[in-house]
Amino acid sequence: MLIHLEHVVRDYRVGDSIVHALHDVTLSIDRGAFVALMGPSGSGKSTLLNVLGCLDTPTSGAYVLDGQPVQSLSEDALAEIRQKRIGFIFQAYHLVPRMTAERNVELPLILSGVEPSERRERIGRALDLVGLARRREHRPDQLSGGERQRVAIARAMVTEPSLLLADEPTGNLDSKAGGEIVALLERLHEAGLTIVLVTHDPSVASHAERVISLRDGKIARDAPPETPNLPLGEATP
Ligand code: ADP
Ligand code: MG
Repeated sequence: MLIHLEHVVRDYRVGDSIVHALHDVTLSIDRGAFVALMGPSGSGKSTLLNVLGCLDTPTSGAYVLDGQPVQSLSEDALAEIRQKRIGFIFQAYHLVPRMTAERNVELPLILSGVEPSERRERIGRALDLVGLARRREHRPDQLSGGERQRVAIARAMVTEPSLLLADEPTGNLDSKAGGEIVALLERLHEAGLTIVLVTHDPSVASHAERVISLRDGKIARDAPPETPNLPLGEATP
């Protein structure tokens, strides 16, 4: 098991009131799983993803990642986990605008102190993986939305994480580009990556093995997709 949450609560204090963004969430996710997180806006999806990614810590309850209770780890140890073992992608890509695809993908390697020659090799592999080797010199404004998200996936994968967390990665894309992103995530899953993906789109979620629906910070449903593998936009061959 890669992830175990036990009675996790995440409260936010806003003025005099308290928002229960997560309310007693108990959940296990196996290594190699492909999980979709759904639920209405405000139901706690991003909060849960941030807790899973060690970007946020529970108000109470326990989070065990790969056998390690996250609460017991120092800030440095958490930063190292985020850098080396977890990849993130977001709806708005979060690429650095003035940098080429190649330079964007290089950033996490610089942060983790990888030597330049090895950086070049790994950047090449990551851009190949997402089918963008020929766009390495392009800046984000010279790429389509789908290509930008593929650069973001290359940047997330370049450190060879075991867990990929994706917050509405197809939310800004048309169905064809979204379908290509989902196909890419399916390939990464088949190669052994653990994926947790937030989406509003039932056809995107239908490509996961398991769909967890949140409502008011609680798990309302946790089951395989009702109809698996619903068609997405026509992917180019
Ligand atoms: P979702 O991603 O499902 O839309 P979120 O996890 O972003 O939901 O938010 C869950 C709840 O927590 C919402 O009611 C939201 O307003 C609240 N919330 C999220 N982040 C904060 C914050 N930093 N401060 C206060 N309230 C927050
Ligand atoms: Mg959200």
